[in-house]
Amino acid sequence: ATPTATMVGTAIGARTGVLFKGGDVLERVRDTDTVVFDKTGTLTEGEMHLTDVVALEPTTSGETTDGGTADREAAGGKTTTDGGTETLTDELEPEDKLTEEFVLAAAASAEHGSEHPLAQAIVEGARERRIDVEEPSSFENVPGHGVRAETSHGEVVVGNRKLVRDEGIDPSPASGVMERLEREGKTAMLVAVDGYLVGVVADADEVKESAKEAVNDLKERGLDVLMLTGDNDRTAKAVAEQVGIDRENVRAEVLPDEKADVIEDVQSGGKRAMMVGDGVNDAPALASAYVGTAIGSGTDVAIEAADVTLMRDDPRDVVKAIRVSAGTLSKIK
Ligand code: ADP
Ligand code: MG
Repeated sequence: ATPTATMVGTAIGARTGVLFKGGDVLERVRDTDTVVFDKTGTLTEGEMHLTDVVALEPTTSGETTDGGTADREAAGGKTTTDGGTETLTDELEPEDKLTEEFVLAAAASAEHGSEHPLAQAIVEGARERRIDVEEPSSFENVPGHGVRAETSHGEVVVGNRKLVRDEGIDPSPASGVMERLEREGKTAMLVAVDGYLVGVVADADEVKESAKEAVNDLKERGLDVLMLTGDNDRTAKAVAEQVGIDRENVRAEVLPDEKADVIEDVQSGGKRAMMVGDGVNDAPALASAYVGTAIGSGTDVAIEAADVTLMRDDPRDVVKAIRVSAGTLSKIK
């Protein structure tokens, strides 16, 4: 671009909340053929809230009980068990455990030390329901998977299937519940206490009003639109459907340090990808992309790594950035 074109494009962009960093960015934005959106905080509002708490029927892995009847009765307040078979209810106080309150109290106390939006929504949800949230005596964050903590409720694990499996706990008794919540576009998390799977909690996030229009406009301009997320595949596809992104364009369950690899993979076929994201996690992917775009209230790290900063929290500004770059470069040449 001529210096004038760059100046004009940059000025028009700035006036409308689109900041182009550096001279050749306008060309690269114009030449973008693929837009990869981070899901949380980019296509969704990024304001998680607790939607579901489910207490599971108690089972002890490897042991069969008579269809769970004894357990159910025990959980309901009776103390009968089937003749010495070890069940979860032998160890837990039936009246205060294995209830939704117990599941949420354990989960929220474990998440107390985490700054993850999923964790904060669980803690806030518990407080709203007047459940005591305590400080765990020890806490470990497992990035991209969940948390482990020592609480007065016991040793608590909250997170995805892999985290629970890594603890030697079988997540399959919760499969039906998990899948139902995920099909609703919610992020469902397993809760285990002292090695027992006790329940499921779910958080959800509203899709941004403007996301659907942005995706539609980009597709109309002939661009490929992808979604990238650490979230579960089923949840991601439910959200993708709400905003009009094709199922096969969803890259889910991507760990924080793998996001850049996904961008490189997309670009290895000669594609010129714009990555749009807001999180700390996204900085390497923003840096790897042909164009990195930080959106809205993005973290400083994301803005630092980006070529374009969208001042507002509106994904339609991605379309605007492309329109401004194409417009100024074609007019002044
Ligand atoms: P995102 O791409 O939405 O930022 P992350 O990579 O941070 O997601 O996390 C991926 C998945 O790991 C989440 O969908 C969730 O299942 C699990 N997870 C991450 N952090 C937590 C947490 N603090 N508590 C429970 N689960 C978590
Ligand atoms: Mg994130």
